[in-house]
Amino acid sequence: MTNPNSPPPDADDVIAIRGFSPEQRAGALIEALPYIQRFRDAIVVVKLGGNAMVDPDLFRTFAEDIVLLRSVGLQPVVVHGGGPQIGALLKRLGKESEFRDGLRVTDAETLDVARMVLVGKVGRDIVAALNTQGAAAVGISGEDAGLILAAARNPDLGFVGDVVDVKVDIIQRLLHERFIPVVSTIGSDGKGQAYNINADSVAAALAGALEAEKVIYLTDIAGLLLDVNDPASIIPRTTVSHLEELRQAGVISGGMVPKIQACIDAVNDGAGSAHMLDGRIPHVLLLELFTDAGIGTMVTSDDAPEPLADHHHEVS
Ligand code: ADP
Ligand code: MG
Repeated sequence: MTNPNSPPPDADDVIAIRGFSPEQRAGALIEALPYIQRFRDAIVVVKLGGNAMVDPDLFRTFAEDIVLLRSVGLQPVVVHGGGPQIGALLKRLGKESEFRDGLRVTDAETLDVARMVLVGKVGRDIVAALNTQGAAAVGISGEDAGLILAAARNPDLGFVGDVVDVKVDIIQRLLHERFIPVVSTIGSDGKGQAYNINADSVAAALAGALEAEKVIYLTDIAGLLLDVNDPASIIPRTTVSHLEELRQAGVISGGMVPKIQACIDAVNDGAGSAHMLDGRIPHVLLLELFTDAGIGTMVTSDDAPEPLADHHHEVS
């Protein structure tokens, strides 16, 4: 810290050190004010993709953002994936996986590994990162308190499940007590059989049931692209019916298929909007929620009113 007897640094010093003048820094906070007021108490479900977790610096800024949201009165709920982490442990264990239509065939042993990685490793890492920032995060599996009721998607895929129902009572109680819930997406069929479930669809079901203001998908691409190889082809704002058209046109493939379905389901089930954001941009959550810079792709119902500010696509 600076010596109390020395004169305060002038604006040029601060710009030299931090890159921003005091006016710019205050300006950023003032710009956030209408958003902070508007989103006070809002439930925001944030899904963190497995690929958005591998960079430690980004992981730390993600944790800072979630804790900041909580501190200014929003109610964040974190849902995480972990496909790459599951794949890595299976490889270390020398266990070969068979894929059908891009989905891993999940036998009992593979399910055990998925459950250990998601609940025991990835979920724990997120809880630890949030708690070092001074928050009170609580990790739960979808098996806890009947949170996620699941059923087999297709017997050929083994223990790959779909969400049948969610019982959000446990989440509501945690939020009420000001905890940050961190959900690992293992579901149960109610008879004790666990299933591995795509985290995108869990985030959608939770956002719908909680009537969340927003569900935000942090992923490893700029947003929904018309041409997956051309970042300039990003769709900044779209509606559920337009997404249905794009899906039928075959523009969407791979991991975007469950994500688009999840955005459609979340909005249809009662979430205010769904967003696909580039988790590789530091503090992308703050940029989306508290600034005028519309980034990524925003999905609303067909009759949604215009957002607070124009949701245009500018980050610079
Ligand atoms: P996550 O871990 O965030 O769920 P996924 O790999 O499952 O990430 O899904 C994101 C991927 O979807 C992108 O990296 C991209 O390769 C793929 N994708 C396919 N079609 C599109 C599209 N039209 N726009 C954007 N991404 C697409
Ligand atoms: Mg995915």
